[in-house]
Amino acid sequence: NVVTRFAPSPTGFLHIGGARTALFNWLFARHHGGQFLLRIEDTDRSRSTDQAVAAILDGLKWLELDWDGEAISQASCADRHREIAQALLEKGHAYRCFATQEELQAAREQARAEGRPLRFASPWRDSTAVDHPEGRPFVIRFKAPLSGETVIEDHVQGLVRVPNQELDDMVLLRSDGSPTYMLSVVVDDHDMGVTHIIRGDDHLTNAFRQIQIIHAMDWTAPVYAHIPLIHGPDGKKLSKRHGALGIDAYQEMGYLPQALRNYLLRLGWGHGDTELISTEDAIELFSLEGIGKGAACFDFKKLASFNGHYIRQSSPARLCEQVRPFLEKDLNRGLLADDLTLLSKAMPGLQERAKTLLELSESALFLFKERPLLMNEPAEKILNDEARSILASSINALEPIKDWSASSIEQALQAFAEAHELKFGKVAQPLRAALTGSNVSPGIYDVLEVLGRDESLGRLRDQTK
Ligand code: GLU
Repeated sequence: NVVTRFAPSPTGFLHIGGARTALFNWLFARHHGGQFLLRIEDTDRSRSTDQAVAAILDGLKWLELDWDGEAISQASCADRHREIAQALLEKGHAYRCFATQEELQAAREQARAEGRPLRFASPWRDSTAVDHPEGRPFVIRFKAPLSGETVIEDHVQGLVRVPNQELDDMVLLRSDGSPTYMLSVVVDDHDMGVTHIIRGDDHLTNAFRQIQIIHAMDWTAPVYAHIPLIHGPDGKKLSKRHGALGIDAYQEMGYLPQALRNYLLRLGWGHGDTELISTEDAIELFSLEGIGKGAACFDFKKLASFNGHYIRQSSPARLCEQVRPFLEKDLNRGLLADDLTLLSKAMPGLQERAKTLLELSESALFLFKERPLLMNEPAEKILNDEARSILASSINALEPIKDWSASSIEQALQAFAEAHELKFGKVAQPLRAALTGSNVSPGIYDVLEVLGRDESLGRLRDQTK
C-alpha cells in the first residue's frame, strides 16, 4: 500500500515548485491506487496564516489534485510529538540539555573562528537525573550516533551518505516544550503511514537527521525521492520574473489546469521525449525512475505552447465558462444570455489561435463591441479610400446570400474577388478591420457567420458612410 503526502508550510502562496511536488506525490499515489495525504506544516505560528492555508488549498483544488481525507494540521499534533520526545528520552536516545544561551553563543563563536559549522557538543549528553539542576530550563536533544555514517538510498539521488560526526545532537523539544520541525515531520509521517516521501532536494540534508530519529524509534523508514529544484532559464534559482509565482498568478494569466499539470510533469519527469501527456496517461506512466537528476529549467514559451494545445483540445462549452470571467473583466460588464450564445458560436474558431484564456478573451472582444466600432491603429490604416470602396462593393456581394453560413459567404466573396480581379487579401483585410476593429481576428468567413447577417452588414456600412 502506497501513501504519499504533500506537506507545505503555510507561509505564502502555493508556488510553482510546491505544486510540482504535490503533483508528483499525487501521481505516484494514484498510479499505485494508494493515498495522497495533505499535511499543513503550521508549527511556526508567527509565520503561518489562515490566508496562506486557504491559498494552498485553493491552488491544489484548481489544479485538481484531490487529497484523501482531511488536511492535517501539524500544530494540532504537538502533544503526540512531545510523547515521542519522551519515548526517545526513555529509550536513551535523547537527553535533557541545560546548556545556557551563553554556552551556546560561545560554541557558535568558536566554530566561526575556526571556520567550521557549529556542531554543539552538549556537556549534558551523558548526564543522569541526579546531575540535573532543579528549576532550570532545558531542551530535549537527540543523542545522535557519534561514529559511523548515515546512509539514505534515495530513489532520485542514489546512495547518499554522511559521516555521523557531521551531525550534531539536534533539539527535539524546545525549552517551552514546543516540538521542533525535525521531530514533528518524522512523527507525523510515521503516524500518517507515509510510505514514500517525494520532495525538493533542499530537504535532503534534513532527511539524514530524520532517518536517525526513525532508526532510534525502530520505525520503518519511508522511501525517499528528493527531486532537483526548478531553476530559471539562466540556470539560477527561479526568480519571480522567470516563473517563481503562486499558482493563482498562473490562473490569472489564463493557463488551464491540465496544461499546467502537463507542464509541471515534464519539468523534472520524463517518459522518452513525449511532451504532451494527458493526466490519465500520466497516472498510468508515472514512476520515480522517470524523475530527472538535473535541475529543471522553467520555460514560459513551452508552457504557453502546452496551453495552446489544451485550449484547442478543450470542449468549446467548457472554454466559454472558463473565459467568461476574463471577458467580463475586459468588457467591464456581465455577459447576458445572448452574449453567451454568440460566444459559444464563435468559440470553435477562436480556440484555434489562443495560447491563454487572456488571449482568448481578447480575441472574442470584437463580438461584443458597440456600433460604430472603434478601430485600432492598424485597422484605421487598412481602411483607406481604396479599402472603403472595396467594402462598399463587397456589401453588394454579401447581401444576396440566402443561407448565411461560412461556406456560402466564402463562395460569394471568392466570386467577388475574382470578378474584380482582386487578390483575396485586398478583400479580407478591409472586411476584418470593419467587422472587428482590429487587424487580427479568426477566419473572416467565421467572423461573418458568427456575427450574423444584420450585425455584419451594419458594421460594414458604418465604415462606408
Ligand atoms: N514543510 C516543508 C516545506 O514546505 C516540507 C517538508 C517535507 O516535505 O518534509 O518545504
